[in-house]
Amino acid sequence: MLRIDLTHADTEPQEFDERPVVPPAAGGVDVVSVAPVELSGRVERAGKGYLLEGRVAGSARLRCGRCLAEFEFAFAEPVELHLLPAAAAPQDDETRLGRNDLEVRFFEEPFVDVAELAAEQFALAVPMKPLCAETCRGICPRCGANLNLGACSCPPQSTDDRFTPLAGWRPNE
Ligand SMILES: [Zn+2]
Ligand SMILES: [Zn+2]
Repeated sequence: MLRIDLTHADTEPQEFDERPVVPPAAGGVDVVSVAPVELSGRVERAGKGYLLEGRVAGSARLRCGRCLAEFEFAFAEPVELHLLPAAAAPQDDETRLGRNDLEVRFFEEPFVDVAELAAEQFALAVPMKPLCAETCRGICPRCGANLNLGACSCPPQSTDDRFTPLAGWRPNE
């Protein structure tokens, strides 16, 4: 298990640069595969704990939520975490709200699990509903053809009977 030992930053800031493997499932069902995630930055002492500042970057193959085609997705996001010992966690109701602050983390042991942090940051980077392009036309609901590749041979769809070939055949019209 790849870990950053925070105590190494007690004397001077520590740089880190890791390439942990992240399971595709970490980013949700639309992730087909993930290249090793780059996690780099530095850790330094800050107050009762540590400040971790860096960057998470990489690429993955995602499945488009509209046309189901796979596409390449690249990401590069800043990471900034304030890591505090669990003993410093506020106990009263008023300050416990701070626990919900994404940027503050409490630790029992002074380590950061690199793969876990990379997986979590990757999950944040993946869009909720991945699209191969904003203009993706999706698939035809009737024949399943990928409409980005051109129109399918289905007749134009309309809820207005006047536009359907069978309209003239109705006995009451
Ligand atoms: Zn698409
Ligand atoms: Zn069609």
